[in-house]
This record gives sequence, structure tokens and C-alpha cells, in this order.
Amino acid sequence: MSSNISQNYPYSSETEEERASQIARAYAANAGLADKVRSESIALQQEGRWWVWKCPTEGCSGLLHSAGYARNARAVYTVCDTCGKTYLR
Ligand SMILES: [Zn+2]
Repeated sequence: MSSNISQNYPYSSETEEERASQIARAYAANAGLADKVRSESIALQQEGRWWVWKCPTEGCSGLLHSAGYARNARAVYTVCDTCGKTYLR
């Protein structure tokens, strides 16, 4: 997990339904990712829409989706739908 909390502006937003399906896809494609997120974050509160950010991983064109809140920081814990890396936003 990157400890660098970026000030990047969100790229877009998505509905709760879209967010949930993207997170489910990322978990299915990356072994151990769901357990990692569960151990490092706390559950999101219910919201109608969520921000989406561009993944900062070099060479990755994926998007970051909200997966939880960081346990140790005031930040959203996000997961990339393409490379499976996690970032705080
Ligand atoms: Zn990525």
C-alpha cells in the first residue's frame, strides 16, 4: 500500500452499484486482495455516488475505486480495477 496520500482531483464518479461491481472484479482478479483490503481498511458507509481516480501506477490505465476507509489515516482506501494495487485518496 502506498503511504503517499495524493492531492489528485477525482477523475470521475460512479454509482454504488458500479463501485461494488468494479471492486468485486478487482477482488476476483487479484488473489488475496479482498483479505488485504479487509485487514487494512474499515467498511464504507452507504453513499449514492463515489469518486473515481486515475491509477498512478506507471503504465497502468486503470481507475481507482473506493473499497473502504483507511484504518490509520483520514483517507479513502482505493483499489485499482486493472493492476490491483491499493492507494489512499
Ligand atoms: Zn492500476
